Amino acid sequence: MSENNQQCECGMLYLSATPIGNLEDMTYRSVRILAEADLIAAEDTRHTRKLLSHYDIHTPATSYHEHNKLVKGPELVQKLLDGLTIVCVSDAGLPGISDPGAHLAMLAIEAGIKVSPLPGANAALSALICSGLDTTAFTFYGFLPKSSKKRTELLQRIAASPETLIFYEAPHHLMGTLELLSKYFGQERAMVAARELTKKFEEFCRGTIGEIQEYFQSNEPRGEFVLIVAGCDPQQADSNLAEKQLSPMEAVAKFEAEGMPRKEAMREAAKLLGMSRRDVYQAILQAETVNS
Ligand code: SAM
Repeated sequence: MSENNQQCECGMLYLSATPIGNLEDMTYRSVRILAEADLIAAEDTRHTRKLLSHYDIHTPATSYHEHNKLVKGPELVQKLLDGLTIVCVSDAGLPGISDPGAHLAMLAIEAGIKVSPLPGANAALSALICSGLDTTAFTFYGFLPKSSKKRTELLQRIAASPETLIFYEAPHHLMGTLELLSKYFGQERAMVAARELTKKFEEFCRGTIGEIQEYFQSNEPRGEFVLIVAGCDPQQADSNLAEKQLSPMEAVAKFEAEGMPRKEAMREAAKLLGMSRRDVYQAILQAETVNS
Protein backbone atom coordinates (compact mmCIF):
# COMPACT_ATOMS: atom_id res chain seq x y z
CA MET A 1 0.00 0.00 0.00
CA SER A 2 1.56 3.30 -1.07
CA GLU A 3 1.56 6.40 1.12
CA ASN A 4 -1.01 7.96 -1.16
CA ASN A 5 -3.44 5.22 -0.21
CA GLN A 6 -3.37 6.29 3.42
CA GLN A 7 -6.34 8.58 3.81
CA CYS A 8 -6.17 11.79 5.83
CA GLU A 9 -8.63 13.20 8.36
CA CYS A 10 -10.03 15.59 5.78
CA GLY A 11 -13.24 15.96 3.83
CA MET A 12 -14.90 13.40 1.65
CA LEU A 13 -15.56 13.23 -2.08
CA TYR A 14 -18.72 11.48 -3.23
CA LEU A 15 -19.46 10.69 -6.86
CA SER A 16 -23.22 10.54 -7.20
CA ALA A 17 -25.41 9.13 -9.95
CA THR A 18 -28.22 11.40 -11.14
CA PRO A 19 -31.26 10.42 -13.24
CA ILE A 20 -30.87 9.67 -16.97
CA GLY A 21 -34.42 10.88 -17.65
CA ASN A 22 -36.84 10.16 -14.86
CA LEU A 23 -36.25 12.51 -11.92
CA GLU A 24 -37.50 9.87 -9.48
CA ASP A 25 -34.43 7.72 -10.12
CA MET A 26 -32.50 9.04 -7.13
CA THR A 27 -31.73 7.01 -4.04
CA TYR A 28 -32.77 8.26 -0.57
CA ARG A 29 -29.10 8.23 0.37
CA SER A 30 -28.00 10.38 -2.60
CA VAL A 31 -30.69 12.93 -1.83
CA ARG A 32 -29.69 13.06 1.84
CA ILE A 33 -25.96 13.37 1.13
CA LEU A 34 -26.50 16.00 -1.57
CA ALA A 35 -28.54 18.00 0.96
CA GLU A 36 -25.97 17.59 3.75
CA ALA A 37 -22.83 18.21 1.65
CA ASP A 38 -20.92 21.50 1.74
CA LEU A 39 -20.61 21.79 -2.02
CA ILE A 40 -21.82 20.12 -5.23
CA ALA A 41 -19.37 20.02 -8.16
CA ALA A 42 -21.71 19.84 -11.16
CA GLU A 43 -21.01 19.45 -14.88
CA ASP A 44 -23.64 22.11 -15.57
CA THR A 45 -24.92 23.94 -12.50
CA ARG A 46 -28.10 25.17 -14.23
CA HIS A 47 -29.02 21.64 -15.29
CA THR A 48 -28.30 20.23 -11.81
CA ARG A 49 -30.27 23.06 -10.17
CA LYS A 50 -33.49 21.57 -11.66
CA LEU A 51 -32.79 18.26 -9.93
CA LEU A 52 -31.86 19.99 -6.67
CA SER A 53 -35.04 22.09 -6.76
CA HIS A 54 -37.12 18.95 -7.34
CA TYR A 55 -35.71 17.53 -4.09
CA ASP A 56 -35.70 20.88 -2.26
CA ILE A 57 -31.90 20.76 -1.88
CA HIS A 58 -30.16 24.08 -1.28
CA THR A 59 -26.48 23.06 -1.21
CA PRO A 60 -24.28 25.50 -3.16
CA ALA A 61 -23.08 24.23 -6.54
CA THR A 62 -19.97 25.03 -8.55
CA SER A 63 -19.14 24.02 -12.09
CA TYR A 64 -16.72 21.21 -12.79
CA HIS A 65 -16.45 20.00 -16.38
CA GLU A 66 -14.09 18.84 -19.14
CA HIS A 67 -12.98 22.38 -19.96
CA ASN A 68 -12.16 23.62 -16.44
CA LYS A 69 -11.11 20.38 -14.76
CA LEU A 70 -7.37 21.15 -14.84
CA VAL A 71 -7.87 24.38 -12.89
CA LYS A 72 -10.97 23.44 -10.92
CA GLY A 73 -9.84 19.95 -9.91
CA PRO A 74 -6.93 21.13 -7.68
CA GLU A 75 -9.16 23.87 -6.20
CA LEU A 76 -11.76 21.27 -5.22
CA VAL A 77 -9.06 19.01 -3.79
CA GLN A 78 -7.86 21.91 -1.62
CA LYS A 79 -11.40 22.36 -0.30
CA LEU A 80 -11.55 18.63 0.46
CA LEU A 81 -8.21 18.90 2.30
CA ASP A 82 -9.72 21.80 4.27
CA GLY A 83 -12.42 19.39 5.47
CA LEU A 84 -15.34 20.01 3.09
CA THR A 85 -17.68 17.25 1.89
CA ILE A 86 -18.14 17.56 -1.86
CA VAL A 87 -20.47 15.64 -4.17
CA CYS A 88 -19.51 15.46 -7.84
CA VAL A 89 -22.39 14.98 -10.31
CA SER A 90 -22.67 15.06 -14.08
CA ASP A 91 -25.71 16.00 -16.16
CA ALA A 92 -27.00 12.43 -16.15
CA GLY A 93 -26.06 9.01 -14.89
CA LEU A 94 -22.72 8.20 -13.32
CA PRO A 95 -19.99 10.85 -13.26
CA GLY A 96 -16.84 9.49 -14.89
CA ILE A 97 -18.75 7.40 -17.42
CA SER A 98 -18.48 9.35 -20.70
CA ASP A 99 -18.74 12.34 -18.37
CA PRO A 100 -16.44 14.37 -16.10
CA GLY A 101 -15.61 12.96 -12.67
CA ALA A 102 -12.83 10.40 -13.13
CA HIS A 103 -10.06 13.02 -13.10
CA LEU A 104 -11.35 14.56 -9.87
CA ALA A 105 -11.49 11.11 -8.27
CA MET A 106 -7.85 10.53 -9.30
CA LEU A 107 -6.70 13.87 -7.88
CA ALA A 108 -8.55 13.25 -4.62
CA ILE A 109 -7.12 9.74 -4.26
CA GLU A 110 -3.59 11.10 -4.87
CA ALA A 111 -4.19 13.65 -2.09
CA GLY A 112 -5.27 10.89 0.31
CA ILE A 113 -8.93 11.92 0.38
CA LYS A 114 -11.64 9.31 0.81
CA VAL A 115 -13.70 8.81 -2.37
CA SER A 116 -17.06 7.05 -2.20
CA PRO A 117 -19.82 6.27 -4.74
CA LEU A 118 -23.51 7.11 -4.48
CA PRO A 119 -24.75 4.48 -6.98
CA GLY A 120 -27.76 4.83 -9.26
CA ALA A 121 -28.83 5.38 -12.85
CA ASN A 122 -26.50 4.58 -15.74
CA ALA A 123 -27.60 4.36 -19.37
CA ALA A 124 -25.21 1.57 -20.47
CA LEU A 125 -26.09 -0.93 -17.76
CA SER A 126 -29.80 -0.06 -17.81
CA ALA A 127 -29.86 -0.85 -21.54
CA LEU A 128 -27.74 -3.99 -21.15
CA ILE A 129 -29.91 -5.63 -18.49
CA CYS A 130 -33.03 -5.20 -20.63
CA SER A 131 -31.35 -6.04 -23.94
CA GLY A 132 -31.92 -9.78 -23.82
CA LEU A 133 -28.28 -10.21 -24.92
CA ASP A 134 -25.53 -11.90 -22.93
CA THR A 135 -24.78 -9.94 -19.75
CA THR A 136 -22.07 -12.20 -18.34
CA ALA A 137 -19.18 -10.53 -20.14
CA PHE A 138 -19.39 -7.16 -21.85
CA THR A 139 -17.21 -4.22 -22.84
CA PHE A 140 -18.29 -0.61 -22.65
CA TYR A 141 -16.85 1.67 -25.36
CA GLY A 142 -18.97 4.79 -24.85
CA PHE A 143 -18.96 7.08 -27.90
CA LEU A 144 -16.94 5.91 -30.92
CA PRO A 145 -13.78 7.99 -31.52
CA LYS A 146 -14.33 11.16 -33.58
CA SER A 147 -11.42 10.50 -35.93
CA SER A 148 -12.41 8.11 -38.70
CA LYS A 149 -9.00 6.40 -38.56
CA LYS A 150 -9.37 5.65 -34.84
CA ARG A 151 -12.99 4.53 -35.36
CA THR A 152 -11.93 2.08 -38.05
CA GLU A 153 -9.02 0.78 -35.94
CA LEU A 154 -11.30 0.23 -32.96
CA LEU A 155 -14.06 -1.51 -34.91
CA GLN A 156 -11.56 -3.76 -36.71
CA ARG A 157 -9.91 -4.63 -33.40
CA ILE A 158 -13.16 -5.57 -31.62
CA ALA A 159 -15.06 -7.15 -34.53
CA ALA A 160 -14.15 -10.68 -33.36
CA SER A 161 -14.61 -10.00 -29.64
CA PRO A 162 -16.89 -12.65 -28.09
CA GLU A 163 -18.18 -10.20 -25.45
CA THR A 164 -21.29 -8.04 -25.69
CA LEU A 165 -20.32 -4.52 -26.83
CA ILE A 166 -21.89 -1.32 -25.53
CA PHE A 167 -21.79 2.06 -27.30
CA TYR A 168 -23.35 5.46 -26.68
CA GLU A 169 -24.72 7.43 -29.63
CA ALA A 170 -26.50 10.69 -30.38
CA PRO A 171 -29.51 10.59 -32.74
CA HIS A 172 -27.84 12.54 -35.59
CA HIS A 173 -24.95 10.05 -35.71
CA LEU A 174 -27.05 6.91 -35.36
CA MET A 175 -27.37 6.02 -39.06
CA GLY A 176 -23.65 6.54 -39.69
CA THR A 177 -22.77 4.38 -36.72
CA LEU A 178 -25.17 1.61 -37.76
CA GLU A 179 -23.55 1.68 -41.20
CA LEU A 180 -20.13 1.16 -39.59
CA LEU A 181 -21.41 -1.61 -37.31
CA SER A 182 -22.87 -3.33 -40.33
CA LYS A 183 -19.62 -2.98 -42.26
CA TYR A 184 -17.32 -4.29 -39.53
CA PHE A 185 -19.58 -6.71 -37.64
CA GLY A 186 -21.85 -7.84 -40.51
CA GLN A 187 -25.56 -7.22 -41.13
CA GLU A 188 -26.61 -10.42 -39.36
CA ARG A 189 -25.14 -9.69 -35.92
CA ALA A 190 -27.81 -9.28 -33.21
CA MET A 191 -28.11 -5.89 -31.56
CA VAL A 192 -30.43 -3.69 -29.53
CA ALA A 193 -30.88 0.05 -29.91
CA ALA A 194 -32.22 1.35 -26.59
CA ARG A 195 -33.47 4.92 -26.64
CA GLU A 196 -34.93 7.43 -24.22
CA LEU A 197 -34.45 5.09 -21.26
CA THR A 198 -36.67 5.86 -18.26
CA LYS A 199 -38.46 8.55 -20.30
CA LYS A 200 -41.94 8.69 -21.83
CA PHE A 201 -40.84 7.36 -25.22
CA GLU A 202 -38.50 4.65 -23.96
CA GLU A 203 -37.98 2.06 -26.68
CA PHE A 204 -35.93 -1.10 -27.18
CA CYS A 205 -35.42 -2.01 -30.86
CA ARG A 206 -34.18 -5.57 -31.05
CA GLY A 207 -33.03 -7.35 -34.20
CA THR A 208 -30.03 -7.77 -36.45
CA ILE A 209 -27.86 -4.78 -37.33
CA GLY A 210 -29.46 -4.84 -40.81
CA GLU A 211 -32.99 -4.85 -39.37
CA ILE A 212 -32.24 -1.98 -36.98
CA GLN A 213 -30.81 0.01 -39.91
CA GLU A 214 -33.98 -0.61 -41.89
CA TYR A 215 -36.19 0.36 -38.95
CA PHE A 216 -34.46 3.72 -38.48
CA GLN A 217 -34.51 4.40 -42.21
CA SER A 218 -38.28 4.69 -41.91
CA ASN A 219 -38.46 5.96 -38.29
CA GLU A 220 -36.41 9.08 -37.72
CA PRO A 221 -33.93 8.49 -34.84
CA ARG A 222 -34.91 10.67 -31.89
CA GLY A 223 -33.50 10.97 -28.38
CA GLU A 224 -30.44 9.45 -26.80
CA PHE A 225 -29.26 5.96 -27.70
CA VAL A 226 -27.38 3.08 -26.19
CA LEU A 227 -26.36 0.42 -28.70
CA ILE A 228 -25.85 -3.09 -27.39
CA VAL A 229 -24.22 -5.42 -29.90
CA ALA A 230 -23.92 -9.19 -29.43
CA GLY A 231 -20.38 -10.53 -29.26
CA CYS A 232 -18.96 -12.37 -32.24
CA ASP A 233 -19.98 -16.02 -32.55
CA PRO A 234 -16.78 -18.12 -32.09
CA GLN A 235 -17.40 -19.94 -35.43
CA GLN A 236 -17.73 -16.58 -37.18
CA ALA A 237 -14.54 -15.44 -35.43
CA ASP A 238 -12.73 -18.52 -36.79
CA SER A 239 -13.90 -17.78 -40.32
CA ASN A 240 -12.88 -14.11 -39.90
CA LEU A 241 -9.46 -15.28 -38.74
CA ALA A 242 -9.20 -17.63 -41.70
CA GLU A 243 -10.04 -14.71 -44.01
CA LYS A 244 -7.29 -12.62 -42.42
CA GLN A 245 -4.82 -15.38 -43.24
CA LEU A 246 -5.61 -15.23 -46.97
CA SER A 247 -2.86 -14.05 -49.31
CA PRO A 248 -3.51 -10.65 -50.98
CA MET A 249 -4.30 -12.52 -54.24
CA GLU A 250 -6.80 -14.81 -52.48
CA ALA A 251 -8.42 -11.90 -50.66
CA VAL A 252 -8.88 -9.91 -53.90
CA ALA A 253 -10.28 -13.03 -55.60
CA LYS A 254 -12.73 -13.49 -52.71
CA PHE A 255 -14.08 -9.94 -53.08
CA GLU A 256 -14.20 -10.22 -56.89
CA ALA A 257 -16.22 -13.42 -56.47
CA GLU A 258 -18.69 -11.37 -54.38
CA GLY A 259 -19.16 -9.13 -57.44
CA MET A 260 -16.76 -6.26 -56.72
CA PRO A 261 -14.72 -4.70 -59.51
CA ARG A 262 -10.95 -5.20 -59.14
CA LYS A 263 -10.25 -1.71 -57.72
CA GLU A 264 -12.85 -2.05 -54.97
CA ALA A 265 -11.78 -5.65 -54.29
CA MET A 266 -8.19 -4.44 -53.76
CA ARG A 267 -9.40 -1.74 -51.37
CA GLU A 268 -11.45 -4.24 -49.33
CA ALA A 269 -8.58 -6.77 -49.37
CA ALA A 270 -6.23 -4.11 -48.00
CA LYS A 271 -8.70 -3.38 -45.17
CA LEU A 272 -9.24 -7.05 -44.41
CA LEU A 273 -5.53 -7.83 -44.26
CA GLY A 274 -4.54 -4.58 -42.54
CA MET A 275 -2.20 -3.70 -45.45
CA SER A 276 -1.84 -0.56 -47.54
CA ARG A 277 -3.52 -0.63 -50.97
CA ARG A 278 -0.11 -0.10 -52.50
CA ASP A 279 1.25 -3.25 -50.84
CA VAL A 280 -1.77 -5.29 -52.01
CA TYR A 281 -1.24 -3.97 -55.54
CA GLN A 282 2.48 -4.84 -55.43
CA ALA A 283 1.76 -8.34 -54.09
CA ILE A 284 -0.74 -8.97 -56.89
CA LEU A 285 1.65 -7.69 -59.56
CA GLN A 286 4.33 -9.99 -58.19
CA ALA A 287 2.01 -13.01 -58.06
CA GLU A 288 0.76 -12.33 -61.59
CA THR A 289 4.34 -11.99 -62.89
CA VAL A 290 5.31 -15.31 -61.26
CA ASN A 291 2.20 -17.05 -62.63
CA SER A 292 2.58 -15.70 -66.20
N1 SAM B 1 -22.84 9.44 -17.48
C1 SAM B 1 -23.89 8.89 -18.28
C2 SAM B 1 -24.21 7.47 -17.83
O1 SAM B 1 -23.76 7.06 -16.75
O2 SAM B 1 -24.91 6.77 -18.54
C3 SAM B 1 -23.58 8.99 -19.75
C4 SAM B 1 -23.41 10.40 -20.22
S1 SAM B 1 -23.03 10.53 -21.93
C5 SAM B 1 -22.47 12.20 -22.02
C6 SAM B 1 -24.59 10.72 -22.67
C7 SAM B 1 -24.95 9.49 -23.51
O3 SAM B 1 -25.47 8.48 -22.67
C8 SAM B 1 -26.06 9.78 -24.52
O4 SAM B 1 -25.57 10.33 -25.73
C9 SAM B 1 -26.64 8.40 -24.73
O5 SAM B 1 -25.82 7.65 -25.59
C10 SAM B 1 -26.53 7.82 -23.31
N2 SAM B 1 -27.76 8.13 -22.57
C11 SAM B 1 -27.90 8.99 -21.55
N3 SAM B 1 -29.18 8.99 -21.12
C12 SAM B 1 -29.85 8.11 -21.89
C13 SAM B 1 -31.20 7.67 -21.95
N4 SAM B 1 -32.12 8.15 -21.14
N5 SAM B 1 -31.52 6.74 -22.87
C14 SAM B 1 -30.61 6.24 -23.72
N6 SAM B 1 -29.32 6.63 -23.71
C15 SAM B 1 -28.94 7.55 -22.81
